[in-house]
Amino acid sequence: MRRGTSFVQRERLTVALYDSHRLPDFPYTRASSSFSAVVQLYAQSSQLDTAEVRHRRFRDTPPWCHFGCDAFESVHHIFARCPAFFAIRRAHSMQLCDETSSLLEGGVADRVRKALEGAAQRVFFDDAGLWPQYQTRFYVGVLPTLARIVGNISETEVGVLPPQSHDMGNIASS
Ligand SMILES: [Zn+2]
Repeated sequence: MRRGTSFVQRERLTVALYDSHRLPDFPYTRASSSFSAVVQLYAQSSQLDTAEVRHRRFRDTPPWCHFGCDAFESVHHIFARCPAFFAIRRAHSMQLCDETSSLLEGGVADRVRKALEGAAQRVFFDDAGLWPQYQTRFYVGVLPTLARIVGNISETEVGVLPPQSHDMGNIASS
């Protein structure tokens, strides 16, 4: 059987634009959030069971959001835009901000801390100033590069943080 175009990603991801640091293994192998790794894999390969995917692949459902929005139920819509999940996005955003601030406290220059805290506030939302392709892509397991967030960074600005804390991936997955 010929592989259909329905398996082709609808949203092109230019991987080179995103952070290339390896994420820590723990959240993916031993924590309950390893579920998120499966979701990311499905999202990356256009396998997540959204109405838009079912409509394109099987034609057995309308492509519109199940939660009443006047929008395609795409992966991006569900994770980044659908009002039905706004409270969840907001709660996780606040948690990420708190944990980022806690991790960076006293460890980096003020300029770097403010830039990373500002980025943490915007990770789950579309923001052309943060995301290289203008839209959030956290749900496929990528993050903006550190250079995009803080620009050039010197060793004195990262101060006492351990080496594995120098990238956004460790902050976002902590
Ligand atoms: Zn919706």
